[in-house]
Amino acid sequence: MEKDVIKYERQREEMVRSQIEARGIKDPDVLSAFRRVPRHLFVSEALRDQAYGDYPLPIGEQQTISQPYIVAEMTQALELDKDDRVLEIGTGSGYQAAILAQIVYRVYTIERIRSLHIQARSLFDKLQYHNIVTRYGDGTKGWQQESPFNAIIVTAGAPEVPEILINQLVVGGRLVVPVGNQHTQELIKIDRRGNSIQQSNLGGCRFVKLVGEYGWRDG
Ligand code: SAM
Repeated sequence: MEKDVIKYERQREEMVRSQIEARGIKDPDVLSAFRRVPRHLFVSEALRDQAYGDYPLPIGEQQTISQPYIVAEMTQALELDKDDRVLEIGTGSGYQAAILAQIVYRVYTIERIRSLHIQARSLFDKLQYHNIVTRYGDGTKGWQQESPFNAIIVTAGAPEVPEILINQLVVGGRLVVPVGNQHTQELIKIDRRGNSIQQSNLGGCRFVKLVGEYGWRDG
């Protein structure tokens, strides 16, 4: 057991150095979060030894835990502050939410597949991540009652930027969302500035579909 902890700690450190720092992620809070969160606990036991590899992995229900680098890139792009409240759409394994929870005051995360929602909730409890609030449902509508958020991250590919999410940002808030077709997307960042928005393209990416009222249709 103890041997495994040390083994995974080494793999985690190697992942941070070779996949994340080496590719230009510099935000110290992001790097420190990656050093702390035990990624191997967010995948099935059979995949634990691959958890720190440079690729996404299946988590069941035809969904994936994203490649570590893309999690780091999106997290850094959110320009987070310790007092921030952040909304994530697409809890999946819970890994991205756990990373965010190391950095900000509170994370709200929504998942549309019940089994993934339940599994992530119990892992957050086990790891005592008390600042993560979970919800089962369609995240494309955001979380009106808890809005506005300082930042919103969508971890599934949308056909277009969901306008409704921009409206749930504070002025000065940031939204990061993959937008494109069902096979490949561009990572889009929106900065909300008063009555205007600034949009930038952070480059290509590949996510599973965002399915819901303001995403893709089911089926
Ligand atoms: N952030 C996750 C992690 O760290 O493991 C990875 C997310 S996985 C690439 C995409 C997730 O988005 C899937 O679990 C999928 O069920 C979920 N999803 C897709 N459409 C959704 C929606 N409308 N609302 C909430 N979750 C959604």
